[in-house]
Amino acid sequence: MNSENKQLIANFLDIAGDFIGSGYKSEKKEYKFEDNSLQEEEKKSGNKYIDKEDITPVNAEIDTIEQVANEIRICKKCSLGSTRTNAAPGEGSLIPIVMVIGEGPGEDEDKQGRPFVGKAGQLLDKMLNSIGLARTTNTFIANVVKCRPQNNRDPYPEETAACARFLERQITILKPRFILVAGRVAAQTLLKTTEPIGKLRGRFTELTVGTSVYPLLVTYHPAALLRNEDYKRPAWEDLKLLKSKIDNAG
Ligand code: SF4
Ligand code: URA
Repeated sequence: MNSENKQLIANFLDIAGDFIGSGYKSEKKEYKFEDNSLQEEEKKSGNKYIDKEDITPVNAEIDTIEQVANEIRICKKCSLGSTRTNAAPGEGSLIPIVMVIGEGPGEDEDKQGRPFVGKAGQLLDKMLNSIGLARTTNTFIANVVKCRPQNNRDPYPEETAACARFLERQITILKPRFILVAGRVAAQTLLKTTEPIGKLRGRFTELTVGTSVYPLLVTYHPAALLRNEDYKRPAWEDLKLLKSKIDNAG
């Protein structure tokens, strides 16, 4: 409506108000009305004019890996937040073929604030490289808890529960084509089961996050391979299975 029409209506209401109130006609008031007829026209005819309310909700819905990482670094949602040195939010390709999910930071990871950088991490990198994967090119690496449990104890259920939303957001943002889960603790946490790792590994299953379903493969933790040679062969079989799935998916 243009300002002239607004002024006319205001005048009419003033007069009506005066008569209803006292029957007396007061002095004509001048209001300062904004003219938004142009914006209204443009809204009707196309989309040239977009007001603030139209923009804000769209921007508010965009979540990023960096945003999640910033929240993790200052998080105190569970008690691990007060014993950590640095949280290790996760790192790697932002358009990953594979997302690796481990248990949680150890001593080296806690020092550096990066996942899988100790002895087990170096072995993990070699295992990934052997099937054409690397955190520098096509793989993202994260953990079910982002802060180190002291003395490398298993994370408690309340800690994995408190941290779950961060991992879900990372998966939702990255949309990896495959998820590789390293070790019993991460596997049991993600699949909500108490089945032993020997039963869980070696075959593809599915993980639903939000409205998406991800093919998921469990394998032994690289730290387990360093402790026990017997796990090396089955772990290699798992990697070959993952590689054939990647190749077949094209
Ligand atoms: Fe927060 Fe997860 Fe760290 Fe707990 S482990 S303080 S939930 S980031
Ligand atoms: N073990 C894990 O499960 N995650 C790490 O980041 C390092 C060691």
